[in-house]
Amino acid sequence: MLTCKELVARSSDYLDGQLDLGEKLLARQHLLFCKNCRRFIKQMRLAQATIKALPEAPVDDVDEIVQRMTAAHGTHDKP
Ligand SMILES: [Zn+2]
Repeated sequence: MLTCKELVARSSDYLDGQLDLGEKLLARQHLLFCKNCRRFIKQMRLAQATIKALPEAPVDDVDEIVQRMTAAHGTHDKP
């Protein structure tokens, strides 16, 4: 049986249909018993639908994240 933490870690793959059969079954089993995670998955699904409805928002976020990562990487890896 998955813990809530493990379920949350797999939630985006679960919603994208990226889990293999065994993991999907474990996730479904957890959701049967865990009301909190059911609510969490429902909210994730809503959030994904919102993101898909607004195609510009996630791209801006990704750019910002990439810029931050490159900046952090640059200071870290100076020769
Ligand atoms: Zn749970």
